[in-house]
Amino acid sequence: MKLKLKDTAPVRNLRAGTPFLWCNPNLKKTNSVLPGLSLRMDDLRNAQARQHRFAPLMAELFPELGIAGGLIESELLPAGKLAEILDYPGTLLLKADNDLPIAGSIKARGGIYEVLHFAEKLAVDAGLLQYSDNYIKLLVPAARKLFRKYTVSVGSTGNLGFSIGMISAALGFECCIHMSNDAKQWKKERLRKRGVTVIEHESDYTSAVAEARKAAEADPSIYFVDDENSVNLFLGYATAAFRLKAQLESQGIRVDEKHPLFVYLPCGVGGAPGGITFGLKTLFGDAVHCFIVEPVQSPCMTLGLVTGKHSEISVYDIGLTNATEADGLAVSRPSGFVGKFIGNLLNGAVTLEDETLYRLLWLLNRHESVKVEPSAAAGIAGPEFLLHSKEGKAYLEKARIKPENITHIAWLTGGRFVPETEMQKFLRKGASAVKTHGG
Ligand SMILES: *Cc1c(COP(=O)(O)O)cnc(C)c1O
Repeated sequence: MKLKLKDTAPVRNLRAGTPFLWCNPNLKKTNSVLPGLSLRMDDLRNAQARQHRFAPLMAELFPELGIAGGLIESELLPAGKLAEILDYPGTLLLKADNDLPIAGSIKARGGIYEVLHFAEKLAVDAGLLQYSDNYIKLLVPAARKLFRKYTVSVGSTGNLGFSIGMISAALGFECCIHMSNDAKQWKKERLRKRGVTVIEHESDYTSAVAEARKAAEADPSIYFVDDENSVNLFLGYATAAFRLKAQLESQGIRVDEKHPLFVYLPCGVGGAPGGITFGLKTLFGDAVHCFIVEPVQSPCMTLGLVTGKHSEISVYDIGLTNATEADGLAVSRPSGFVGKFIGNLLNGAVTLEDETLYRLLWLLNRHESVKVEPSAAAGIAGPEFLLHSKEGKAYLEKARIKPENITHIAWLTGGRFVPETEMQKFLRKGASAVKTHGG
């Protein structure tokens, strides 16, 4: 297919694989956008209430959640020595989803929530559960027998499969994960050990999802988690906003339009960063500025937004390869649902080379002893683009924002379960990237 695209600066940068900051020309005032969306504050509250209903059961199934009362949450950390080294004006914080329990990545938010939502509906419809019950009730044999009749299925580059697999197995569902060619071997092995069926595809993420979707259509006992369109996944991610707000308040960090929050979110198909953007805009309005970050060879969401073609265009259509070491972000075609949903809310996007991810991964480990996978380091690059590029400076000037008043949050998205030998490989690559390009 020959695609005619307007020859604009962002399209040229995308085609050439040049790292850049894109500021969204379709950004509108949050107040004017939210009322027109299909999801509201009530949906966020309902999702959060569901997480609370499940909390006692979650604490029972996963003892590591006990201290958090059964909720899946990560810390908001100061960037300490790393912030000193990077030396940005303002404050730099790290949202440690790299350390989220159960799944070790941001997928613990969306993936687990979606499976809980499904389990609740099944159990309530079968008369085994009422919303007011203690959900520990779902451990009874009758509930497990019910769940065993269903297979939860998903297409994944690794982490979503990992999160869905863990919770499905714990609740008693059958589970089948369709992994793309980017998925790391250790993620597949870990799941197989839990009794999850892992199907390996030679193709990329978009095709793995298509295969999973096709298999599910032919079989009513398969519950397909649709990473490209699921509202429940999206809401599971979005509830992060409530907890981030509470963390900022407890740390005494002021957020208003003069003291804005800049949040940098690594982006694959778009559900995680899109959901979090929606949640944060709902709670903070225009005082929060959300930027997605993507690899230069897989900038699918940026491409969809820049061209307005959303899921109708893939990175291959402009000659890119979708080859990146950031396996969590190796997506060639974005979610159409998310792109349209956040089209007037998202402040912008940044694209990066893999080398930068490795350099940041190394710096993070060296100075903060934090371990992340390459995808998860992407957010740390955000402030650099905002503060030092021509586009970024113009953006801050236009919004009359003083750099020293900004609280930057780099959302670290995965890494907890990366095996030590893999981590050492990442760090070696990071060390050589630092040698070539400086710290
Ligand atoms: C999946 C993933 C993301 C991005 O989430 P999407 O919903 O695919 O946009 C970011 N980082 C890591 C580590 C991931 O696994």
